Formats: sequence, structure tokens, C-alpha cells
Amino acid sequence: MKTVTTPQELQKHLIKLKRDGKSVAAVPTMGALHEGHLALVSKAKELADVVVVSIFVNPIQFNESSDFDSYPRTFDVDCELAQEKGADFVYAPTVDSMYPQGFDTTVSCGGITSELEGAARPGHFDGVTTVVLKLFSAMLPDVAVFGQKDAQQLLVISKMVRDLNLPVAIVAHPTVREEDGLAQSSRNRLLTAPEREDVVKISQGLFAAQKSYEAGETKSDVLVTLVRDVYSTAQRFSVEYIALTNRACQPVTTVPQEGALLSVACRCRESGVRLIDNVALGALWG
Ligand code: AMP
Repeated sequence: MKTVTTPQELQKHLIKLKRDGKSVAAVPTMGALHEGHLALVSKAKELADVVVVSIFVNPIQFNESSDFDSYPRTFDVDCELAQEKGADFVYAPTVDSMYPQGFDTTVSCGGITSELEGAARPGHFDGVTTVVLKLFSAMLPDVAVFGQKDAQQLLVISKMVRDLNLPVAIVAHPTVREEDGLAQSSRNRLLTAPEREDVVKISQGLFAAQKSYEAGETKSDVLVTLVRDVYSTAQRFSVEYIALTNRACQPVTTVPQEGALLSVACRCRESGVRLIDNVALGALWG
């Protein structure tokens, strides 16, 4: 496995491999790799000849500088894990090389970014789509794998790819969870021990609503109340939002034919860590 830090060097390697007929899969990450990321790498390996994992903590998608500063960084271990899973390249650009003096271009995906994480974190998705397009132009992927854990991100990136006719197939990977149901996240390692016990309720609330949907309930207010009831017993986190939305990430009052996304964001009281999770209701992911 090679570690590469500049787009020029990565493009040079990949253009040669592509000339030799190899296909390329990209797995963009911010590092602090966990089982969720590694499942994406394994999927990428199934989908293409060459797997490129990017590790870049992207400053322009953070709207709180304390979150950016405290974001876990475990680069050496990440490289070992990526290599074990069969990655061929780790692409790790520096902030200065990604955003040199004078960098002034933004990719913005419109209404799909107005709710959920877009509403809670102003500017977040412009940062995400700008960096992902920039990563794609270095990683030259035929296919890129993203996690359903960040469902709105996945829908926004799919829209960017459609709107801009990018020649990249976007593959969605299911959320990988801890044994107790907590969605794997790089931020989980920042939780205090009592918070870690309490945040199991985040997925429990979502699963309760999912069960109710599967038993025939489709109304947003009923499903959201089911989640809220579970969260009302939590001592160590507060709820930022619980929302039912469609594929365009707009609120819906009932689950439509195409399926819906039930999303939550919670803030832990002691560590300040913010966690998101979601479940798809119906055929959202096809
Ligand atoms: P991040 O490093 O948090 O930016 O995530 C990089 C990629 O890994 C994104 O496509 C995420 O959606 C995906 N990802 C993060 N956590 C999980 C998880 N628990 N299960 C599946 N994919 C995940």
C-alpha cells in the first residue's frame, strides 16, 4: 500500500493503472477508522481492482472549531488498518494543499441541504460537497462507497453526481453498529463512560419506531413520539432533532411510497459530543 499526499502524484499512479484497464474505487474518510469505515473498504475491494482510501479531516465542513480541534486523529493506525483490509492507496492531503491561498470555489447542492444536518450545521454540506468533488478529481474513482450512517450526506453526494454528470457510481453501505446497536462513529471514542452507556438509547429509539412502522404505522408524529419517549429516559444527552424526511431530505407527515428516513441528532451533556443516527423506513435505499 502506498501513502500519497498530493493530487498530482495520486493522479499519476491512477492514470497509469487505468490505462492498464484497472477500475478504481474510492472510500473518502476523515480517519480514526473503525469497523464502519473498514466495511466500506471491503465493499470497495469487491467493486474495483484498485482501492483508494482518503484520510482528510476537512476543516470547511466543521461549523464548530472545538469539534474540528478535538476530532480524533490516528493516522498511523489508520494506515495499518486500511492496508490490512486491502487498500492500495491512502490519500492524505494536507489542509494547505487542499485549500491553498486563494482557493475560492464552493460546490452547493441547493434545497436537499436545507434540513436536518444542513439546518443544524450551516455551511456543513457546502464543505462536504466541495471536498468530495475535489477528492474525486484526485482519486479518479469509477465507484465510491459511502455509509448510510450519514444518510443525508449520501443523498446529497448522489445528487451532486447526478446534477454534474460525474462518471462515478455511488454505492451505499448499511450502517455498521456496535453489538448494543450504537452506530459506529469516530466520535464515540470521545464519550465518557456513563455517556457511552446512555447513548445506546439513540438506536433503541429508532428501532422502536422502525418496529412500529413495520407493524403498519406510517404517521410522522406517531413515529417521532415513539423515539422521543425512549429518549426521555436518557440522562446524559439531549435531542437536537428527530425528523422524518423523504429522499429530497424534506419533511413528510407520513412515510411515502418511496420510503423515508427517520433521523436523529443528539448532544451529549458532559463531553459535548454530537452524534447522529438514522433508520430507513421502507424502500428508501431501493
Ligand atoms: P467519516 O470518516 O465520518 O467522514 O466517514 C467516512 C465514511 O464512512 C462516510 O461515507 C460515512 O458515512 C461512513 N461511515 C461512518 N460511520 C459508519 C458506520 N457506522 N457504518 C457505515 N458507514 C459509516
